[in-house]
Amino acid sequence: MPVPTPSTDDLAALLRARGQRVTSQRLLILRELRRRAHHMTAHEVWEAMRRALPGTSTPTVYATLELLVELGLVRKLCFDAGTALYDARTEPHQHVVCRHCGRIEDLDIDLDSDSILVAARATGFDPDGVELVIAGSCAPCAEATRA
Ligand SMILES: [Zn+2]
Ligand SMILES: [Zn+2]
Repeated sequence: MPVPTPSTDDLAALLRARGQRVTSQRLLILRELRRRAHHMTAHEVWEAMRRALPGTSTPTVYATLELLVELGLVRKLCFDAGTALYDARTEPHQHVVCRHCGRIEDLDIDLDSDSILVAARATGFDPDGVELVIAGSCAPCAEATRA
């Protein structure tokens, strides 16, 4: 069964409301992120775009990803060891990351964000939000280390 093409009408509406151009590149990049099981690097997005819309430059991909983050349609995840990942799933969720191969999975848990934010503000910081990243070894990597 073919995977339904994710809608990007929300992006088109946001761009129009801001007086920005609705380009096929912008729509395709968001569609690509929504179609995949999310968590793509900018390079992976660029590779997908090379097939979908040849001639898309790397700067365009980076600029569009930043725009999508700014519009709140994509989350940018930065982990200490790797390149940034772009996540089309914007509702609150956390992540587990393999420190060997970089594999990443969503973690759907209820965090007590309010009390975490209260504690963060008590340090004098103005927190952006609560993001939990649990690093470790994914099952295949743990298996490989044991062998
Ligand atoms: Zn791994
Ligand atoms: Zn995610």
